[in-house]
Amino acid sequence: MNEPTAQFERYRRQTILPEFGASSQQSLARSHALIVGVGALGCASADLLARAGVGTLTLVDRDVVELTNLQRQCLFDEADARERRPKAEAAAARLARVNAGIRVEPRVVDVTSRTLPRVLRDAGPDVIVDGTDNAGTRYLLNDAAVRDSVPFVYGGVIGTRGMQMTILPGASPCLRCVFEEPPAPGSMPTCDTAGVLGPAVAIVAGCQAADAIKVLIGRRDLVKPTLLEFDLWTSERRRLDLSAMCDPAARQRCPCCAKRSFEFLDGQHDDDAIKLCGKLAVQIASTGRECDLDQAASTLREFSPTRVSPSLLRVSLAGERAENGAPIELSLFADGRAIVDGTADPARARGVYAKYVGA
Ligand SMILES: [Zn+2]
Repeated sequence: MNEPTAQFERYRRQTILPEFGASSQQSLARSHALIVGVGALGCASADLLARAGVGTLTLVDRDVVELTNLQRQCLFDEADARERRPKAEAAAARLARVNAGIRVEPRVVDVTSRTLPRVLRDAGPDVIVDGTDNAGTRYLLNDAAVRDSVPFVYGGVIGTRGMQMTILPGASPCLRCVFEEPPAPGSMPTCDTAGVLGPAVAIVAGCQAADAIKVLIGRRDLVKPTLLEFDLWTSERRRLDLSAMCDPAARQRCPCCAKRSFEFLDGQHDDDAIKLCGKLAVQIASTGRECDLDQAASTLREFSPTRVSPSLLRVSLAGERAENGAPIELSLFADGRAIVDGTADPARARGVYAKYVGA
């Protein structure tokens, strides 16, 4: 089968949909989706968008694959978890095998107010899809989406419940119109404390991918101003109609989309060392400067560092004992970020980082 025929065949079940059509396929092929967070939601959305033929996907994630991810994060396998591969890279490798006709760009980056502007500049996305697992990053993405007028497809899952809402900046309410402030740290359950049901991920990611496709084929008129809620255990569904808030007069109190105060993007909520939820580990945020991992491997050579991937160097510090007695482990990422495993104390983590990385 020659290439144009194969492409025609590949997408035929989609293009024969009267709602979709052949010209929409060309629009999708020219489009770019930025997926921030390649956990459960990000994996499922990326899989759907790659198979649908979105021409370019940028996948951004700071973490590595772990065994506990496999229950719901559909792009990873046991080998990825064994090798603790960076999620963005493992997902991109998998999607390259699914659809060789699209471009998938992995970015192993911690999305912060300092790093997000560059990610956006490099990608120039037509839509931003939320695959994050924390409110801080979501509010940061909401700021960026409103400031740059890029549609933002929010989604969240916890326990057996999920939520979804798509923001068309200027035309529909933003995240802060609906939830003005993020929940206080520690005030909400997380996937580590409350668990998460895999099917709840699938339904939210399905809603997100469908809205992303509508945006990318130029059918924003089909994206409804609604907050959808699902509980897959009780079979309850709720649809909150937000159309009254599409009127700018109804949104005039919103700090983000009415007053254009982008306080998350401006870094007013940043914390440079944060304890990682559910783990004996602390993350040191990137200062925005990249880390030369070859140089770091050379500096730390007495500890026999392991180069896990082009973007990750891991070293076990025999001289530093963790709270459980094992050596402290340091993971250095090319984006300048580090994870200190073996302590939950941000001050100690900063100290270890300063001692061995010198920043
Ligand atoms: Zn707003």
